[in-house]
Amino acid sequence: MNQQNAFSILQKLLNDTAAFVGEPFMHAAVTSLGKTLGADFVFISQTVHGVPGSVRMIAARRDGEAIDGWTFQLCGTPCDLICRESLDEDWASLKIGRSVAISDRVCEMFDATRGSQFQSFVGVPLFDGGRRMVGHLALFFNQPSSDRGALALVVELIELFAQKIQAELNRMIADRERESLLSELRRLVEQLEHESITCPLTGLFNRRYFHHRMAQLHAFEGKAAGCGLLLLDIDHFKQINDTHGHDVGDAVLRHVADTLKRDTRKDGEEVFRLGGDELAVLVAGDIGYAALQRLGERLATSLSRHWQPVGGAHHPPTVSIGGTCRMPEDDSWEETYVRADRALYVSKRNGRNQTTVTDEPLHEPVLSSQ
Ligand code: GH3
Ligand code: MG
Repeated sequence: MNQQNAFSILQKLLNDTAAFVGEPFMHAAVTSLGKTLGADFVFISQTVHGVPGSVRMIAARRDGEAIDGWTFQLCGTPCDLICRESLDEDWASLKIGRSVAISDRVCEMFDATRGSQFQSFVGVPLFDGGRRMVGHLALFFNQPSSDRGALALVVELIELFAQKIQAELNRMIADRERESLLSELRRLVEQLEHESITCPLTGLFNRRYFHHRMAQLHAFEGKAAGCGLLLLDIDHFKQINDTHGHDVGDAVLRHVADTLKRDTRKDGEEVFRLGGDELAVLVAGDIGYAALQRLGERLATSLSRHWQPVGGAHHPPTVSIGGTCRMPEDDSWEETYVRADRALYVSKRNGRNQTTVTDEPLHEPVLSSQ
């Protein structure tokens, strides 16, 4: 190869790869390098976890065929010389991240190539902006290179083209880092959103989300859209705390929350912990007073059916429930809420452990919180 040849080969390499970016560029590059330089095995690698001795092939071509990449250790291969700081004998002057050219007998010199037909080898390191090795380019030839001058020219040529590969590899790495940063950010935002609407003790939606859902139902789904609301309050919960301790109280709260979650429909029924021992079930849609009453009674029964004694608490907790449906004349969601709360008070006053659903309109206006 003379300089004129080298120039036209470089031009061919650039032309063959000009239309591609990212991984397709890498595949086009190994294909063109194989063809134009007659290399029998060409691959481009990226270092794994920033360790120069461990790499993953990102594009590879052997005997004219594209092959799947794999991850491997450079130790025992000629590529290892690119990363070594110093070497014995012939290679003693090499510094880390230098190009390597071997003119013949590659198949005899390295554990990994023993038994192969490889005679000559050219390897070029690829760096990031801070001269940290991020990968390398390797070419193996079944022919020895008898002309050292020609081999030096091939190395120069490959080094020039490797700059293009290096730029593309760095772009791919930057893209991937940006993408993983973005997905981490998205995950964090989702987590924050989840935490801002969830009660950590029970995993139920919190009061903030209850207000939001009630307001949403009222504002966006129109006057005609119905909904049912049940408010639940554990009976004598303070006594449970006082008798068995706060941890048992927490376990009882979780039991109530889990039961409500399990016994409500995934679509259209949402469960909230409004605070303390007060919970709510919001039913989107026209459930009707009778069905709402049945739902409340079913949930209350379920609490004792699924009860497992906890701490010293042998008896299942009971709840008082008040409920109502949204009325067309409700001007704000608070009116629905206050009606359900009044019904809950009736359940408490009448002896607890019961469900009261009311269809009696409020006789005085309710201040809206909006
Ligand atoms: P009633 O039947 O009238 O509802 O009586 P009660 O004892 O349930 O009512 P009260 O509102 O007096 O008591 C609620 C108790 O809930 C008081 C408070 O110490 C307890 N509590 C509030 N939040 C928590 C919590 O997160 N964990 C535990 N263990 N207790 C809580
Ligand atoms: Mg209570």
